[in-house]
Amino acid sequence: MTDLAWQLSQKQQELTDARRQLVALEAELAPLRAAVDPEALRALGFRRDLERLITELSTHFIRLETAQLDEAIQHALGAMGQFAQVDRSYIFRYSADGATSNNTHEWCAPGIIPQIDELQGVPNDLLPWWSAKMARREVINLTTLADLPETAVAEHKILAAQDIQSLVVVPLVARGETLGFLGFDAVRQSRHWPPEIINLLQLAGDMFVGAIQRIETENALREQQLFARQIMDHMGQGLTVTNLEGRFTYVNPAFARMVGYTPEELIGKSPHDVTDSDYQDVLQQAHQKRQSGLRNAYETRLRHRDGHGIYVLNSGVPYLLEGQIAGSIVVVTDLTQRKKIEAVEQRARREAEAAARAKSEFMANMSHELRTPLNAIIGLADLLLETPLNQEQQDFLGTMRQSGEVLLAIVNDVLDFSKIDAGKMRLVVEPFSVRQCVEEAVDLVATQARQKGLELITYLNPKLPPMVEGDENRLRQILVNLLNNGVKFTEAGEVVVAVEGKKEENGRYQLQFTVRDSGIGIPSDRLNFIFKPFTQIDSSASRRYGGTGLGLVISRRLVEMMGGQIWAESREGHGSTFRFTILAEAANAPQEEPLQWRLTGKRALIVDDNETNRLILTRQLQGWGMESTAAASGWETLQQLHNSKPYDVIILDMQMPEMDGVALAQAIHRLPLAARPPLILLSSMGILVAGEANEYFAAQLSKPIKPSQLQRTLLRILSPGTTSLLTPPPVQMRVAREAIPAPSLRLLVGEDNPTNQLVLRQMLTHLGYQADMMSDGQEVLAALRRRSYDVLLLDIQMPHMDGLTALRHIQDEWPPEQRPHIVAVTADALVGRREQYLAAGADDYLSKPIRMDGLVAILKRVKPRVPPPAKKEEVDEPGTKTAVSDIDWAMLEVLYGDDSREILAQLIPQFTADVYRIYAQMQAAAQQEESDKLASQAHELKGSSGAVGASALQAFSQQLGVLAHQEAWPEIREHLPQLPLMLRRYHSAWQKR
Ligand code: ADP
Repeated sequence: MTDLAWQLSQKQQELTDARRQLVALEAELAPLRAAVDPEALRALGFRRDLERLITELSTHFIRLETAQLDEAIQHALGAMGQFAQVDRSYIFRYSADGATSNNTHEWCAPGIIPQIDELQGVPNDLLPWWSAKMARREVINLTTLADLPETAVAEHKILAAQDIQSLVVVPLVARGETLGFLGFDAVRQSRHWPPEIINLLQLAGDMFVGAIQRIETENALREQQLFARQIMDHMGQGLTVTNLEGRFTYVNPAFARMVGYTPEELIGKSPHDVTDSDYQDVLQQAHQKRQSGLRNAYETRLRHRDGHGIYVLNSGVPYLLEGQIAGSIVVVTDLTQRKKIEAVEQRARREAEAAARAKSEFMANMSHELRTPLNAIIGLADLLLETPLNQEQQDFLGTMRQSGEVLLAIVNDVLDFSKIDAGKMRLVVEPFSVRQCVEEAVDLVATQARQKGLELITYLNPKLPPMVEGDENRLRQILVNLLNNGVKFTEAGEVVVAVEGKKEENGRYQLQFTVRDSGIGIPSDRLNFIFKPFTQIDSSASRRYGGTGLGLVISRRLVEMMGGQIWAESREGHGSTFRFTILAEAANAPQEEPLQWRLTGKRALIVDDNETNRLILTRQLQGWGMESTAAASGWETLQQLHNSKPYDVIILDMQMPEMDGVALAQAIHRLPLAARPPLILLSSMGILVAGEANEYFAAQLSKPIKPSQLQRTLLRILSPGTTSLLTPPPVQMRVAREAIPAPSLRLLVGEDNPTNQLVLRQMLTHLGYQADMMSDGQEVLAALRRRSYDVLLLDIQMPHMDGLTALRHIQDEWPPEQRPHIVAVTADALVGRREQYLAAGADDYLSKPIRMDGLVAILKRVKPRVPPPAKKEEVDEPGTKTAVSDIDWAMLEVLYGDDSREILAQLIPQFTADVYRIYAQMQAAAQQEESDKLASQAHELKGSSGAVGASALQAFSQQLGVLAHQEAWPEIREHLPQLPLMLRRYHSAWQKR
């Protein structure tokens, strides 16, 4: 019951008491009155009886049970009716909505006809005067029906119908609201209702209402308790209530079941009695927390009666009684099922991780296993191609070799794809030159473009930052991919690559690369599909053009990893344009750029029939501050020369209709000009003009024109004396060598692969070290037992005893201070490997191919532990002397980093072609005894040999250059034929790696 209700019932009680007091007072007054009045004497008896009746009734209504209520009312009506000598006494209750009245109880004097059955559901609206009186909580007192006002027509009618002569009715009121009424009727004759009778009715009404309300409240309370109890008893979770001493005052059956007791057995026990010893502290803290008024949730383990443990989650709140903390209420959730699911999930996760690990290990192995034989196929085909073959054999072999290349490209694509798919692709962030990256990409497709007679055009906005931070190799990969597609799907015309850049607000650059071709184009409805895995526009085309359909997918993912987007625009039959953006920080540029101002203001005339080329060259030159004009043909050029100011330089294309480069040069030569500008010839056929024609040109460049190369050439011609400044700075090799302290370390290498042994030895020799080479774990242990070492480079995958086992043995056998600095080396550069090996006892980790800088960094860290030997050591294997090897892997590593093998695979075909071309030119020069030519050819050969790590060839060409300067023709002619031989040796070294 709410407080207000409580107050009301209190008032009601007071009212009843007051009425009772009134009766009592009247009773006291009566004898006094009787003494003076005989009538009053009679009344005295009446009052005494009334008092007795009221006392009887009120004792009856105290402590009344629900079931007794009806009977008690019925009895009261009878007693009152008899006492008041009425014909009928009755109660009407209003329906819940107050719309109707229902006769609930009735007593009739003998011989009087009951009305109760007739008077059910009487609409209150029907009796408006009556209802209004009741609502105003007024008494209706009618001595005769004539007392009714005129408006009470319906009331009159209904009372008359019951033969009622007189009646008195009091409202039943609870909490200010009328619930119904209680009354007496006189049927046989009319009568007057004295105040005592009305008082009696009111008193009885109060008693009825009080009893009814009390019982109704009790019922509601009981219902609520039952409801709560049912919930608590049947809820799946456990529920406990404890008192301030922490003893259970209530536990629900679910909780009792959890711990194997009955609820009764648990009452009075403490939660500590049914909780595991490990969790007693947790329980104690939780209890204390609630005592301070806080709610909490915590996990514990219950102890079942039979001893087994149950993990549970407890959610507790303080138990409040009248605003005071009286204990705790705790909901206890069984976590057994959840723990089981968690365990299953954990196992599934572990298994999935293991599967992913197995997959990437498989990929790493596949990579190795597939590439090795493929390289053998390609390398051997190359070697065979150099032997005398008939045309058919050459064709077969050529196809075989090309198929090998295609297969290698596919393998690389698939591996890249799965690497990206497994989230294993990591980008490096290193400074690199955007220009160089683009030029190298263009170089890689140049031969193919030349073979198809395509123009391959490069344009870089001169305002681009010269150096940016990012993954150069991956950017090149994207470009090569797009360029390859461009060349592949274009039969005639051009492939253009352009780079623009804009500075973002945060200081970074957004670089936009465009690769446009004039090829077959892509149907517009397929444009979205080409970036999806294994998609090619149609299978017949893929048969014709080859490819895996992975290139663009890989490109897209790489571009996204670089913070950019890739998209394509195309119209079938009208070429395609692929664009992508990347985000990059500008890096500190080397000091080469400022030289360009020496070109500022120089006037250049560009002659090319290809419009794109004209446009790009013009913009490129303008970017360097030059004034450039373009002409589309020889005739136009001659006109320009005739009409305009003199030019400082003319750049002309070789392949032009009507008048080609050489013809135009001759024509210019014959012009009567005051000063004849130097001519630069561009040729896309890969052949330079020789003989007399050569004399016309200050320089010849073969397309694709690299901006840096063109700039260098222009500087050489227009601003002599600056070129030496332009030669690229020597690579980091020297830095590496100097960075190393005096090599007093004693090194042991465990590596089973002879090529890898060779490479490591080369690298170490290069750094000034000697190392003992062992080819399995057992040998490594044996070597360590023989003498002590400062550093052990330990390959993990070795036969007989692998690296990890060797690591374990080393840890068992030698205390830490006597162990060398152990560097774990593996080829499967997978994520997590480093941690795994370090945990297994290695001090450092290097992934293969070993990079010079990585090796240097580690060797620099190691302090020599063993004093350097006084005498020469016994050496475990012969031949530590370093000969000039055929491939300088260490150099390549420095040049190309981790991907040197892949890059080399792509470079070698071009290099082979170059060597043969130069060889033919050298033979001609030697024949003609043209020492300058031979020297420059030797120089060119030296450069390209260096780029592919062909160290023997490089040394050979240097020697040849010296001989050329000395004009030692007999020696030259004697040595020159060795060139193809050395190329072959290079090939076989490559194939053996
Ligand atoms: P693929 O190795 O087959 O070339 P890509 O992912 O690089 O795989 O390209 C998917 C397909 O998109 C190609 O097979 C070709 O149908 C189409 N495509 C890509 N580039 C071009 C282009 N420059 N011109 C026409 N079609 C192209």
